[in-house]
Amino acid sequence: MEAEWLAALPRLRERVGDRNFATWIEPILCVRDEQGLRLEVPSRFFQEWVTRHFLSRIREALADSAGMIPAVRIVVAAAEATSTPRDSAPATPQRVTRTRPKIGRLVAEYTFDTFVVGHANEVAYRAACSVAELPGRRFNPFFLWGGVGLGKTHLINALAHDLLARSPRRSMACLSAEAFMNTMITSLRQDQMAAFRDRFREVDVLILDDVEFLAGKERTQEEFFHTFNTLYAASKQVVLTSDKPPHAIAELEQRLRSRFEGGLIADIHPPTHEMRIAIVTKKAAVQGVDLPPSIACILAERSGPSVRELEGALTRVLATTSLRGVPLDVEMVKRLIAPVTPPPTVISVESIQETVSQHFRLSVVDLKSHNRARSVTFPRQIAMYLSRRLADASFPSIAEKFGGRDHSTVMHAVRTVEDKRNQDPNTGSLLAILESEVRSRVNA
Ligand code: ADP
Ligand code: MG
Repeated sequence: MEAEWLAALPRLRERVGDRNFATWIEPILCVRDEQGLRLEVPSRFFQEWVTRHFLSRIREALADSAGMIPAVRIVVAAAEATSTPRDSAPATPQRVTRTRPKIGRLVAEYTFDTFVVGHANEVAYRAACSVAELPGRRFNPFFLWGGVGLGKTHLINALAHDLLARSPRRSMACLSAEAFMNTMITSLRQDQMAAFRDRFREVDVLILDDVEFLAGKERTQEEFFHTFNTLYAASKQVVLTSDKPPHAIAELEQRLRSRFEGGLIADIHPPTHEMRIAIVTKKAAVQGVDLPPSIACILAERSGPSVRELEGALTRVLATTSLRGVPLDVEMVKRLIAPVTPPPTVISVESIQETVSQHFRLSVVDLKSHNRARSVTFPRQIAMYLSRRLADASFPSIAEKFGGRDHSTVMHAVRTVEDKRNQDPNTGSLLAILESEVRSRVNA
């Protein structure tokens, strides 16, 4: 009979819409017992909400696909309910295998399939794929960082979905650092710390989003440190995300910082123009809209730096056009997104030269000179690489600004730094730090 539930899901999705479906229907666990279908939900709030808003549509969808209306009950899952005899499960319920974590929840749409890969996130993406292949072995912990709205949460959800798809019995916790803290506080208050610890230390995979939130929260850090150590010692995979690299998280205990630094650190950069076009086109396709390239291009150009803003612009355009029942047209799109978006910040080769020379305690003159001492050539190559990546300048124009060199020198420098970056996580971190220094200088 659970097959009926699975069969009803597509209809249900149509009836409630994608967002409601992901939030309210997907988390439901369908179990068959003597009384019919028991739909298990995570909390009382959830139970009330689903009962009030979706129960009739659930019945209809089931009736449509099964040809009869089965008995359906919505109950709070045993672990969180004060169990009553009626709610207790029969001896061996046949559970529909679900891809969801034991603690926390995933966003259904955030999968590897819907993640656009390009230069800016390739390293992070490949690292996430490796972790999904061999959790707990190769890269532990996996620390992913990058600016707001650049796809960290998407990528760890994709990783989580993939891990669960590969092995649905794997027990996983996937939640924000803030949720971790709130759960801890509740457990403290209810004098249930032992249960809290057991719960987290038993998982096979722990994914904690936005760990920068732990800054200054000593008690939570302390608790997390022990959880981390237990999992790590048992070769369980830990995945962390943050908006900055470990060393830049202020008020993070040193011992925790060195744990974070002990694995693989990968960062996500802001996407290039081409990637933004690919992303916005894909996002539109997910919503069933075939976005014309001219419009994808305007959106990619004009919305703010993060992908979230790009998505916001798309949503605004699609909403307005569908409300007014008009087709997408270039001029209208321009009008729609012009007023709310600030001009993109321009990063100059000069500002990169200043940042890099300051970082390495050199003068800009040295950086541009033909001095071939290693203490100067390495920073110079880095500055050339960053100029290419961040300032969007051509090879010849960069060469010109580095003391009138040949452009092949710049190309060579970029390749050299890229190779280093791919082979050595430290170089990756260094570049990331410099990039954020450059950006903060520009935005200052
Ligand atoms: P972060 O956690 O880094 O702040 P999110 O993962 O929440 O960012 O991403 C913000 C939005 O942008 C999400 O809707 C996400 O799906 C989308 N997004 C970001 N990067 C990509 C990408 N490379 N491909 C597809 N969508 C992306
Ligand atoms: Mg996030």
